Amino acid sequence: TIGADLARTVERFADREALVDVQGGRRWTYAEFGAAVAEVALGLLAKGVRKGDRVGIWAVNCPEWVMTQYATARIGAIMVNVNPAYRVHELAYVLRQAGIGVLISSTEFRTSDYRGMVEEVRADCPDLRDVVYIDDPGWEELTALGARTDPALLTAREALLGCDDPVNIQYTSGTTGFAKGATLSHRNILNNGYFVGELLGYTEEDRIALPVPFYHCFGMVMGNLAATSHGACVVVPAPVFDPTATLHAVERERCTSLYGVPTMFIAELGLPDFATYDLSSLRTGIMAGSPCPSEVMKRVVAEMHMSEVAICYGMTETSPVSTQTRRDDDLDRRTGTVGRVLPHIEVKVADPGTGTPAGRGETGELCTRGYSVMLGYWDEPERTAEAVDADGWMHTGDLAVMDEDGYVQIVGRIKDMIIRGGENVYPREIEEFLHTHPKISDVQVVGVPDEKYGEEIMACVILSDPAETLTRDELARYCQGRLAHYKVPRHLRLMESFPMTVSGKVRKVELREEAATLLS
Ligand code: ATP
Ligand code: MG
Repeated sequence: TIGADLARTVERFADREALVDVQGGRRWTYAEFGAAVAEVALGLLAKGVRKGDRVGIWAVNCPEWVMTQYATARIGAIMVNVNPAYRVHELAYVLRQAGIGVLISSTEFRTSDYRGMVEEVRADCPDLRDVVYIDDPGWEELTALGARTDPALLTAREALLGCDDPVNIQYTSGTTGFAKGATLSHRNILNNGYFVGELLGYTEEDRIALPVPFYHCFGMVMGNLAATSHGACVVVPAPVFDPTATLHAVERERCTSLYGVPTMFIAELGLPDFATYDLSSLRTGIMAGSPCPSEVMKRVVAEMHMSEVAICYGMTETSPVSTQTRRDDDLDRRTGTVGRVLPHIEVKVADPGTGTPAGRGETGELCTRGYSVMLGYWDEPERTAEAVDADGWMHTGDLAVMDEDGYVQIVGRIKDMIIRGGENVYPREIEEFLHTHPKISDVQVVGVPDEKYGEEIMACVILSDPAETLTRDELARYCQGRLAHYKVPRHLRLMESFPMTVSGKVRKVELREEAATLLS
């Protein structure tokens, strides 16, 4: 279980640093972190949290988030990660859907009045009996209660836990619609975090800068669990992603590893004072979550000292990582593919309709099977059955190609595929190509309705220099002779930013809807 694994790390690396909160100026060794987790765990036990009870956490990145993650695991509660961007409507949905009994939150953050929103929906959520606010006496009361509680209670509870018990409900990013609650066990996520860290070569010497949200598996599994299972240290640069704070934290804390979705790395590389940061402590890191343009990967390797950086591919439902590039893969494969399958997992590329395996080099839906596949969507057996078939294969909804040596390339999501005049067009390929244009900082390609072709292609572009301009003809000329004519964007939209999920993914659905309205 996660508790047993943490106990082992605390014993082996007691005096090494476990957690650093850069903006708050607070730090914990593993001995201190282990003790803090035990207090929170005992506090929750004293509040009557039983095995299998759902404890929600609704907060931006902070040390208490990490403590809650391990405390709930130790007492056999199921932690429910609630997206900090949610507002009353979604909050009430998740509180009710997961039957959350105790909610840990903060009173406010910037313009978000969390306490106000909780109080507003409370009457409609009959299961919710207790709310603990982190930046309020609530948290201190919880830990003081824990300090007064008999530690034998915790030992007794831990004796009842098994590694196939559910430990976590993580809602998916909601990139393609309403989020689904993936229920994950100790075995699911602890193994995944461990192997991700193993392939990155983590040891107790590593210090991992995490600007990605904890509420998402990228932060809490690939970050926190990968760190604690190897004795490494988690460095929290800021409550929410900020490129300056991130590079500052890397420099000040001499981080060896840095994570991000592609847009985060693009923002960091684009800082006007980028060259002034000392990033020489960096060795590795992870880019994941959405298509990782090779151009961006190459810059990360060359300009951020991250010579061993990996790309991971996965989804919340699979704990999350299924494939990952290795340190010794050659540069083209490390920047141009999502690597090979992780140990003890299977992947196959299959025809989405029939399930027949595709040949090497052929496109099909990526399916994965193994310890990493979720227990199911919480309280939604029908949706679980749609996603995981009778043989245990998780159907990812992503199109992929696998080469002779087992390296996987993600072609795009089935839902994002554009069908233009009968031709299948994958936005990903056009985005990759447009990233090579010197004026383009970031680009998203979507399909828009078209009378003649059914769908036409629109490029939504963020320029490197906002004072510059780019015309449709200029773009078409750039594509000429280098991209098949039917893939050349007919429409161009210049934007300052893209609509994003909190995990940093571009909401293509929204871009598509906006594009359709703009053109109609
Ligand atoms: P929802 O399922 O709610 O629509 P989501 O699929 O974005 O949201 P996540 O589980 O956070 O929720 O993301 C998993 C998806 O992210 C994958 O199915 C895939 O489409 C995409 N993805 C993750 N890593 C990569 C990668 N390295 N390259 C390309 N796509 C990736
Ligand atoms: Mg998904």
